[in-house]
Amino acid sequence: MMHPDLMKRFDLTGRSALVTGGAQGIGLEIARTLRMAGASLTLADLDLDTARKAAAGVGPDVDAFHCDVADPQSVRDLAASIGPCPDILVNNAGVPGKTRDTSDDDWRFVISVNLDGVFNCCSTIGTAMAERGSGNIVNIGSICGSIVAKLQSDPAYNASKAGVHMLTKSYACKWAKSGVRVNAVAPGYVATKMTNDSNDNISTWAELTPIGRLGRTEEIANAVQFLASDASSYVTGTVLPVDGGYTIW
Ligand code: NDP
Repeated sequence: MMHPDLMKRFDLTGRSALVTGGAQGIGLEIARTLRMAGASLTLADLDLDTARKAAAGVGPDVDAFHCDVADPQSVRDLAASIGPCPDILVNNAGVPGKTRDTSDDDWRFVISVNLDGVFNCCSTIGTAMAERGSGNIVNIGSICGSIVAKLQSDPAYNASKAGVHMLTKSYACKWAKSGVRVNAVAPGYVATKMTNDSNDNISTWAELTPIGRLGRTEEIANAVQFLASDASSYVTGTVLPVDGGYTIW
């Protein structure tokens, strides 16, 4: 059995966490995992009904709110609704890129959710954390922020995730002395609604992954839990690939 002193380093009891895009997929699994680690939880998502159902499935005391992370006012409204600034913010909400040519509207939409969304949440909630003198932010980037993955050359998605990685490093430096750590997880391919939409590519992505399969949502959530806990107290500004080795060859 794990020694209690070691368990304590991973324990999130007494901490509050906010997960954006937490109604399904990777975000929902992150919510479940942080709850299992003892955190109190708030989910924010575009669709309030889905978020409420998801929250009820995670636990009776889990809150759900509507938020469009692409809209700065919606993020400010969310921050005002949840009350005290959370201890942990997971910027997970995201949308896939387009497989067709990227139009002006496609570019603006993907960047507005995936990149502006992380900026909006950091600028409102991260700033409040820094003023308080404590906080922990985990952004969900992607392997596509570091490489152009086969069959996924969408410029908007890839640029948005590269931007998330640099926002992570920039805020980590900015707030390092204010008690706020900022890290990112860069998942490889994981079976969710997002990847099911590109079903034809799944076997190719599995073949291109050294481990030989797609990731599971809990494998991403475990990394987030580590970064959100005191077990990673000397880690900030890192982008942790959780990709079955996709980016090593
Ligand atoms: P899903 O599509 O399964 O879930 C994303 C959630 O975010 C949905 O509930 C969606 O709501 C919500 N969302 C979308 N836009 C907004 C918005 N503007 N404001 C608030 N919530 C929003 O995606 P995944 O779980 O697969 O992805 C989660 C994160 O992981 C994303 O950032 C993604 O880029 C990243 N990622 C995923 C990978 C994968 O293989 N699945 C690989 C690498 C990174 P709705 O459905 O109503 O639009």
